[in-house]
Parts: sequence; structure tokens; C-alpha cells
Amino acid sequence: MASMIEGFRNAELCSKLVRQILKEATGSYRFMEVCGSHTMAIARFGIKSLLPENIELVSGPGCPVCVTPQCEIDALFEIAEKGAVIVTFGDMMRVPGSKGVSLQKMKSEGADVRIVFSPLDTIKIAAETDKEVVFVGIGFETTAPAVASLALTAKKAGIKNISITPYSKTMPEVLGLLLSDENLKINGFICPGHVTAVTGLSLYEPVVSAGMSAVVTGFEPVDILTSILEMVRQTNNGEFKAVNSYSRVVADEGNAKARSVIDEVYYKKGCWWRGIGYIEDSGLAFRDEYAEYDAFKKFDVSLQGDDEIEGCSCGEVLKGYIKPSSCSLFGTACTPESPVGPCMVSSEGACAALYKYS
Ligand code: SF4
Repeated sequence: MASMIEGFRNAELCSKLVRQILKEATGSYRFMEVCGSHTMAIARFGIKSLLPENIELVSGPGCPVCVTPQCEIDALFEIAEKGAVIVTFGDMMRVPGSKGVSLQKMKSEGADVRIVFSPLDTIKIAAETDKEVVFVGIGFETTAPAVASLALTAKKAGIKNISITPYSKTMPEVLGLLLSDENLKINGFICPGHVTAVTGLSLYEPVVSAGMSAVVTGFEPVDILTSILEMVRQTNNGEFKAVNSYSRVVADEGNAKARSVIDEVYYKKGCWWRGIGYIEDSGLAFRDEYAEYDAFKKFDVSLQGDDEIEGCSCGEVLKGYIKPSSCSLFGTACTPESPVGPCMVSSEGACAALYKYS
């Protein structure tokens, strides 16, 4: 595996790709990545510094922690205050609520908050306590099958003290919103490899129909530079298609088994996105047969709107309207040590990526 990765980091190959991009990029181009892992990889490998000024890369709403709206974060804290055991991926620990608390702070004050690497770890935790155990089910199509498997497993085993916070978010609807946003003027999308591994390339038909390129790619420098060259070429030719440059992981048709697990447990429902608002059908809610696993229903908490933390511009960053450095709090009041918004907390956040690698 090491030598395979080295191949995708090969300096000579990267130089060759950059030279070709410089040669062919005769217009002006704006490409958006809609995956937090791409945001981090672009920053980590200094991809922007290799590109000419006429190619702009902007980040979109691809970081799951970042797009989770304040109302869902606050609802989660309300559940923790009611005495539930909270089970989460590590990224959520430091996301601040609107009252300035975080799961980390609540844990330091006695709340029972556990970090896990897999949703199914929740089963073991639930077996060791009589308390309600709530898994924080954020993410996109990538993580939705694993979260759905938790509900399936709990139901099969008759476990009653587990619930899950919906909503996983789905990509087609937010992509649709980006396509119809005349302020963005995007020429192409660096498409999320892991989401596409589930959905398949058909996800990008609307992108192509709208006259933009869509290239699914991996997370190494050669992957990313290859996708940029492909998008430059498509933009120059005015001929757009979805291309899978990540075939070592992603099958064009996606993963039908993963999609069927999602379909068995969830139905599509509108939900809130941070800074973007309510998008119809953009979330996954539990079907009636699994409604007992909906933590928001079980704890009777309501979700109210998409208020942002005062002074934080995560919403504008997530829509690609501004760069993180344009936020007046960036690097001053807001740093990874003292984050104001989730884009500075998450390991996939655009603000955290810029701060760490700029
Ligand atoms: S720098 Fe901080 S306050 Fe500004 S948008 Fe990013 S996370 Fe929000």
C-alpha cells in the first residue's frame, strides 16, 4: 500500500501535471470541492500554490460536522443534559453550541460522552448501562449505511436503550442548490470519492446537464491535479461529462448493497444545513419501523431554524461565497485551540485546513 500511495505522490508526475495545466489553462476557471477530505488534502499538499492565478479552487458544503446546523447541535446538547450517554465520532467533541458549551466541556463537567470509531460500538456501550445511549448520526451517504446498520442491529437484537440523532445529509439536493446559485459561477466540481462509492456516478448527471464538469477523484496530489487538468480540458472544449478518476476505490455504479441498507432504514426528508437553510428531501429520517431509534423524537427536542453563532461566517464559507481568511475572526478570535465555529473545529473544515497549512 505504501508504494501505491507513493506513486500518487510522485513529485515528477505532479510536476508534469502542473506543467500541462499551465499550458492548457488559457481561460479562467473556478472549481469547487464538495468533500472535506479534499479540502484538507488540497491544503495539506499545497495544491493551490501550484496552480496559476486563473484557476480558483473554492470549498463547498462537504464537511459533515460543518454542515450540521446549530439547531441539531443544540438539540444534541439538550439530550445530553437530560442524562443520556452520548456516543460520537471525535470531530464533534469541540463543536460549540449557541450557548458556548461543547460536548468536551459537558464531559469535563460530568456528562457521559464517549468517542467511538464505528457506530456499532454503541451496541456494547448500551449493553453495559440502563441509561439511554444516543449515537450522533451525522454524515453523508458515506456514513449513512453504517449508521443505518446500527438501527438494524439494535432492532434485530431487541435493544431498547439505543437511539440515533438524524439526519444524515444527502448530496443530490445540495448539489442542485449549488448548480442554481448564480453567484457561484462554478466551472466544475471535484466530486467526493467516498460519497460516490455509495451513490455511483449518476449523482452528477445534473452537474453535467448544467454545463459543468464533474470529476470523482482520490485524495493524493496526483489524483487532485489529474482532476483539475480534466476539468480544464472539459471547460475549454465545452463538452462536459462525469469522469471517475478514482476507479481504484469507486465503481461507476456505486454500491447497491449500501444503498439498499439506507433505503431499508430511512426515507428522504427535508432538513436544515448550516448557513444554507432548509433543503427539501436533503436528509435521511427513520422509516416508521425504525422511528423508535430517532433520538430527537425519543427526547422530544425540536429543531428550530438555522441560526449561526454570532460573528461566525461558516455559512458563507460553506456556500463558497467567501474564503475562511475573509472571516474577521479567522486566526484571531477563532483558532483551532479556541474555535468559534465548526469549520475551525473539524479535521475536514475549510477554516481549520487553511489555518493549519497556510
Ligand atoms: S474562522 Fe471561525 S468564526 Fe470564521 S467562519 Fe471559520 S469557523 Fe466561523
